[in-house]
Amino acid sequence: MISVKNLVKQYPDKKALDDVSVTFKAEETTAIVGPSGSGKSTLLWALNLLEHPTSGQLQIDDLTVDFEKSLSNQEVLELRQKTATVFQEKALFTHLNVLHNLTEGPVKVQKKSKQDAEQQAFDLLKQFDMEELADRYPYQLSGGQQQRVAILRALAMQPKYLLLDEPTSALDPELEAQVLRVLKDLAKKDTSMVVVTHNMAFAEQVADQVVFIDGGKVGYAGETEGFFHSDNERIKKFLGAMS
Ligand code: ATP
Ligand code: MG
Repeated sequence: MISVKNLVKQYPDKKALDDVSVTFKAEETTAIVGPSGSGKSTLLWALNLLEHPTSGQLQIDDLTVDFEKSLSNQEVLELRQKTATVFQEKALFTHLNVLHNLTEGPVKVQKKSKQDAEQQAFDLLKQFDMEELADRYPYQLSGGQQQRVAILRALAMQPKYLLLDEPTSALDPELEAQVLRVLKDLAKKDTSMVVVTHNMAFAEQVADQVVFIDGGKVGYAGETEGFFHSDNERIKKFLGAMS
């Protein structure tokens, strides 16, 4: 379980998060939705300490940090090992082929043997029907393929939680569908995922929970079904604008 309490992120001229308390359950998929500029990325990035909120607490399983205190490198490392993040921009190593993109982290960071890391990489590629891409370099892949490799690269680190910030927003609808299929497969396997998305159909189909962030505050946190059938005027207006 990942849980944040009373998160505040104050920029000089803007409060990006305003007392956000929310829990992301293990083995579930949570969609973070909300208008542009509402604080979704700021919240997601706080979960793996890419963003340092002004105050509040973060708990990941048995690890807890208080953002008002400075964090030790050890604390940051331990927390980061629990999560892996996939960004909107494809962030593959351009000088490495797909296989090496998938083995780099496990070998360099986790000190796995090259053989074990390659076996795991092939298993992942096979699981998602992408074996034929193993020898290709990122420039030889389509945007959708690159994004799927980026997701597998995050999975290769065997994180407990997978965090994704609009993983499909740079893609055309066909490529988006490819990436969403991978995420649906992961969701079915009870992967613990937190996904920031503008794709309401995807959120409705795949997410177990929805967190609606509106003006830096939590406008809804709960079952997906309840969000999409809410009587709340603000939520109805948001969903109307998104459809
Ligand atoms: P989008 O859907 O467009 O990605 P978002 O919900 O992810 O938006 P955030 O990126 O979390 O929004 O930003 C929340 C608010 O904080 C926005 O109003 C943004 O302008 C502001 N903000 C973000 N980074 C900074 C910064 N470095 N300095 C000042 N304000 C910032
Ligand atoms: Mg964002």
